[in-house]
Amino acid sequence: MDKEALAAWRARSDAERAEPLAVVRVGGPDEEILRRPARPVRHVNRSVRTLIERMRATMYHENGVGLAAPQVGVDQRVLVADAGDHHCVLVNPEVVLATGTQTEPLEGCLSIPDLLGEVERSETIRVRGLDANGREVWVDASGYFARVLQHEVDHLDGILFTDRASRIVPVRPETKLDVVFMGTADFGARVLRQLVAADVIPVLVVTQPDRPAGRGLHLQSTPVRVAADEAGLEVVTPPGPRDADLWQRLRDLEPDVVVSAAYGGILPGRVLDLPRLGAVNVHPSLLPRYRGPDPVRRALWNGDAETGVTIQRMARQVDAGDILRQEVVPVDPDDNAGALTERLAEIGGRLLLRALRDLATERAAPQSQDAASATQAPKIRPEEEVSDFEPPAAVLAARARALAPRPSLRTPGGLKLLEVRALAESSSEAPGTVVGLRKDQGLAVATGQGVLLLRRVQAPGGRPLDALEWARGRRLTVGQRLE
Ligand code: ZN
Repeated sequence: MDKEALAAWRARSDAERAEPLAVVRVGGPDEEILRRPARPVRHVNRSVRTLIERMRATMYHENGVGLAAPQVGVDQRVLVADAGDHHCVLVNPEVVLATGTQTEPLEGCLSIPDLLGEVERSETIRVRGLDANGREVWVDASGYFARVLQHEVDHLDGILFTDRASRIVPVRPETKLDVVFMGTADFGARVLRQLVAADVIPVLVVTQPDRPAGRGLHLQSTPVRVAADEAGLEVVTPPGPRDADLWQRLRDLEPDVVVSAAYGGILPGRVLDLPRLGAVNVHPSLLPRYRGPDPVRRALWNGDAETGVTIQRMARQVDAGDILRQEVVPVDPDDNAGALTERLAEIGGRLLLRALRDLATERAAPQSQDAASATQAPKIRPEEEVSDFEPPAAVLAARARALAPRPSLRTPGGLKLLEVRALAESSSEAPGTVVGLRKDQGLAVATGQGVLLLRRVQAPGGRPLDALEWARGRRLTVGQRLE
């Protein structure tokens, strides 16, 4: 981090410690203050500096890029702005020079949260004003930062962006999209629930047919079907993505976009090409890493410290589509595949909503994948689910986490290792030898390299047990070997 970035970061953390203020909204009881010119500040004193800190706190709290004092109910000519690359505080600002014009991107306002507008602004401006210490400053701004400053100076003159807009659109254009959702597993169900919660209501949900499951082999709906039924959505369960009736249905619907999340089937090219905005997929890895069906388990299996979620525009080659959005997610040392999948689905749903907004506003900026660094995530094979204690403890721990909560890593004797941890200690005992029964911790077992602590296990035909409880039941003692 360079000096300037460090200073900006500190200023931001200071501002975030201040108490945010309530934002005055158009249509609210105090909106009148937004409609008249604000009064100049006479002296930049401590109370003005406190106001500035609280305005900045409010701006960050509300995820805004700028804020003017009238927007927090204060009749003073003060603005704060932080457009990422540039930030400033200005008291009594005055635009002294303005050249060129810009119309992109659509402009929004914390006081008018439901609308966006197309507003023509100057491309480059020079603003004179005072800083938080009352010293005269000159700010030269261009592009997006210039737009932000012009918007905020307008506020100080009682002007709203809607007064200047040539076109106004609802702020959440993704809610207007005709979305077809395709998903099957729990990951997909979680993503679907987030779409519905954000008012992006699919016109059709496609999921795999009900399957026999459980001891009685009763037909069981997919998690996506359950979520769709909860939300009262229309669901179809074709035998596969190439089904003729499904194709006919999709053609009749003419969706804007097809979204897939853990559907479990490769979509034919004609389905990818049909929607106006294409087909997008929520993939729980940092593509091009871990293309294929088992990315979450493979990241854990390999002991990765971080993974992520990618929203890709689906291409004919599986998981090779252009990247619309991507987010890195750290792997917690105690994560198993179940917990990590849940977290990635939550983040994936949020990213998907952003990608849909980008697509709806034609602001998506797809990035192609670097095919040279692609890796694969094939399904875990049944033989990979079984291991003795020969591999290093860290490897066994990674595998156990990758296979938890189901199907679980098993010893050749069939003992499921539900919860384990690699310890930072070594042992010269033969792999599989019990080296300790540690109260409140678990059963310590020697491995090919290092010691593995078993915390929860499940014997064949038994129920999941605390490892020490299981060991007591078997009268296991130090020196005995597990199979
Ligand atoms: Zn505004």
